[in-house]
Amino acid sequence: MKIILIGIQGAGKSTQGNLLLKKLKIPYLSTGHIFRELAKEHTPLGRYLKETMNAGLLISDKKTLSIVTEYLQRPEYKAGYILDGFPRTLNQVRKFENGIGHVIYLKVSDKEALWRLSYRDSDDRTDETLPAIKKRIELFHRVTEPVLQYYRKKETLIEINGEQEVKEIHKEILSKIKK
Ligand code: AMP
Repeated sequence: MKIILIGIQGAGKSTQGNLLLKKLKIPYLSTGHIFRELAKEHTPLGRYLKETMNAGLLISDKKTLSIVTEYLQRPEYKAGYILDGFPRTLNQVRKFENGIGHVIYLKVSDKEALWRLSYRDSDDRTDETLPAIKKRIELFHRVTEPVLQYYRKKETLIEINGEQEVKEIHKEILSKIKK
């Protein structure tokens, strides 16, 4: 099974992704996590990733697609995966050849996300500054909303109210992907 999780930062994608991993025993991966690991390397790519993420901007489609494609070719993802944070642009949707299963949109308001992020322990994330978070939210509306619209039109988008209890959200996701 292939599951895609979409939502603004603070929507609960990684919480829900990890619950799905436990329940369904399907590997979970997040492009943000992959990029943060690569950004630690002292290479031109590492520097580019770090600077771009710290500014709250998106990594180029070309680099994103090549890194994601390389990861998903690994044997552990053959049978399926839970992918958090990709695709975020229409270009990524068009060029992604792996095929999409369930697309889950965890919907929370900007206000709720900002509130949650201000209480989150982000010691390990140098990209969680207020200006970067605000930029990311703005980009989500401008660049990722059209992705949601694309899946909505194809009637493959599962929209979930992300402002419920964690357990309730998890239950709702499970019931909707089993249909
Ligand atoms: P996240 O952990 O999902 O909030 O992602 C952290 C950062 O990684 C984002 O602000 C982007 O700079 C980058 N990133 C993650 N996924 C993508 C993507 N699909 N396309 C472009 N940039 C991405």
